Amino acid sequence: MYWCPKLEIQRIEVYSITLHYEEPFRIAPEVSTESHNIVVRIMTDYEVVGWGESSPSQRVTGENPKTVVKVLDRIAPKLIGMCPLRIEQNVESMDSIVEENPAAKAAIDLALHDILGKTVRKPLFMLMGGYRKKVLTDITLGIKSPKEMAKDASEAVKKGFKVLKVKVGVNPTEDVERIKLVREAVGDDVKLRLDANQGWTPIQAIEVLNKIEKFDIQFAEQPVPAENLKGLAKVRKNSPILIMADESVHSPEDALRLIKAEAVDLINIKLMKSGGILKGKKIAYVAEAAGVPCMIGCMGESEIGIAAGTHLAAAVKNIQYADLDSDLLFKDKLVMKGGIKVRNSMRVLTDQYGLGIEELNQRLLGKPKKIYG
Ligand SMILES: [Mg+2]
Repeated sequence: MYWCPKLEIQRIEVYSITLHYEEPFRIAPEVSTESHNIVVRIMTDYEVVGWGESSPSQRVTGENPKTVVKVLDRIAPKLIGMCPLRIEQNVESMDSIVEENPAAKAAIDLALHDILGKTVRKPLFMLMGGYRKKVLTDITLGIKSPKEMAKDASEAVKKGFKVLKVKVGVNPTEDVERIKLVREAVGDDVKLRLDANQGWTPIQAIEVLNKIEKFDIQFAEQPVPAENLKGLAKVRKNSPILIMADESVHSPEDALRLIKAEAVDLINIKLMKSGGILKGKKIAYVAEAAGVPCMIGCMGESEIGIAAGTHLAAAVKNIQYADLDSDLLFKDKLVMKGGIKVRNSMRVLTDQYGLGIEELNQRLLGKPKKIYG
């Protein structure tokens, strides 16, 4: 009774937004003060509207807001008149028009999934597996001096966070100190994971990871450069701490390659690397078959992208960890009503249909930059 064979994409609007960080956010390769994102609104002939978002990273996928708008300019006209529910077909069509550019394609993929949920009047996670209703997320501590990071760690714990992701990868000696002071500041009950964002050589990584084993670290993300698979495999073999790939894995094919190279214990899926929910799911399933659990992470998404990540994490059993915190690091709030709030480190899913985005900050959203259809 929900099937609506006539459902068609009628109009696609593209918006450009800027989100300011509360404070400069530093990771090993860069410092960010703002996130420039592209928001997409897809309208159908049955008044169902889907929201999607792209948060491009030049560093990770070679994309920026300009390339995203350019790619959408090629893709969007071809989607007009298509059935939004045929997601697999629409993604195939996007891939045939433009190669790569996963963050641009993610904006469309997210909006299509939002439409799917709203069309059948169910929260998206319940349509994709509905495995859990709450997702435990960490909060990320950007790179500062070890003492300052220890202070930030205590404050995060006071706010209710039970899992902290500590950014490292700038200086091995200082990185050991960072982890030591953070662990001392938060005590034994808080879970710690770390992310070097490709900042170490394999030798440095092995040294640091062995030195910090005693501080009870859940896993270490992307210790060495993305393309250095042999180095990653070597680190994994010699590390007492589990190794997670982030920048090394964009697609299901990458996941398979790393698994075959025995280079990973865990994989960090990001919708902006995979091209959205559909391929994010495929990565999780490829990894599950190999006994490799996944995390869902984020770039600089607002509440829209974070809602999408949370729905995927809630839906899929093999997505066992979450780093869904970018919206919490911004001064600006794009979603005024709806979205997925965080409380005591938990993202709690609601009964709202689709991604559950109800009302956007019109001042921040502004007028559409482009309209198709
Ligand atoms: Mg990472």
